[in-house]
Amino acid sequence: MSELRWLDVLAQLYPDAACELNHQSPFELLISVILSAQTTDKAVNLVTPALFQLAPTPFAMATAPIEDLEDALKQLGLFRTKAKNIKATAQLIVEQFDGQVPRTRKQLMTLPGVGRKTANVVLSVAFDIPAVPVDTHVERIAKRLGLAKEADSVVAVEKKLQRKIPRDLWNVSHHQMIHFGRYFCTAQNPHCNACLLTNECKYFRKLQQNKRKIRP
Ligand code: SF4
Repeated sequence: MSELRWLDVLAQLYPDAACELNHQSPFELLISVILSAQTTDKAVNLVTPALFQLAPTPFAMATAPIEDLEDALKQLGLFRTKAKNIKATAQLIVEQFDGQVPRTRKQLMTLPGVGRKTANVVLSVAFDIPAVPVDTHVERIAKRLGLAKEADSVVAVEKKLQRKIPRDLWNVSHHQMIHFGRYFCTAQNPHCNACLLTNECKYFRKLQQNKRKIRP
């Protein structure tokens, strides 16, 4: 069986998988990804229209009163911290990067609220630079399918996926993994009974072994 069958299956399930954060520019994407920490893309999409109307550019966000940013974000958890981070990020973009979202991971990670995953999303989605952002879904799928070990760190999972997935598929396959994790191989009650990947799945094998053990 091909080592990459799992990729084919995900590609067939989600041929059009794409970023679910609404955005019109690299700046809007960057801000949306920062806001998506510990909340859903859906919740972020509800607040960003008003936010981007108030502050559509790095300069406008950098100079907007913090109370106005907080007000636009108040439906989100941690909205005060997030307002502070996006304002500081916009200020740095204006001061250090000439008002343009930077295009390297190293530079992106100097921005407040931007970790490795956020930087990878921006590289991949905004600039089409190959990257493998590892969020909770990607990490879970990689570990369940045995593409990474249970104890692996997020960075280790990223490196392993980069080795296993052809580089020209990194950008599309991470969206397919997110969709699969969000809607099918969910954290609780994954749809194993309808899954085409049971043969590849370490997690499924373990479940079956445990069932056999507890049978009288
Ligand atoms: S068999 Fe279950 S746990 Fe494994 S990949 Fe499919 S849905 Fe996920």
